[in-house]
Amino acid sequence: MAKKPFACGECGLILQDGVDQCPRNPSAQTTTDWQGYVIIIHPSRSEIAERLNIDQPGHYALKVNIR
Ligand SMILES: [Zn+2]
Repeated sequence: MAKKPFACGECGLILQDGVDQCPRNPSAQTTTDWQGYVIIIHPSRSEIAERLNIDQPGHYALKVNIR
């Protein structure tokens, strides 16, 4: 990973290279200040997804630090 990608402050989605806006939450704040990395493949079968309120597969940050 050359540069740390942005993560969405609303849903925690880790955005692709060069993207700084969440496609699901366009108005949400994004930041490179996040920790943890989880890949959710089956949200309905995942305890982490349930805890993070994730209902779509993807790469997510466990903790996103925004004010
Ligand atoms: Zn989002």
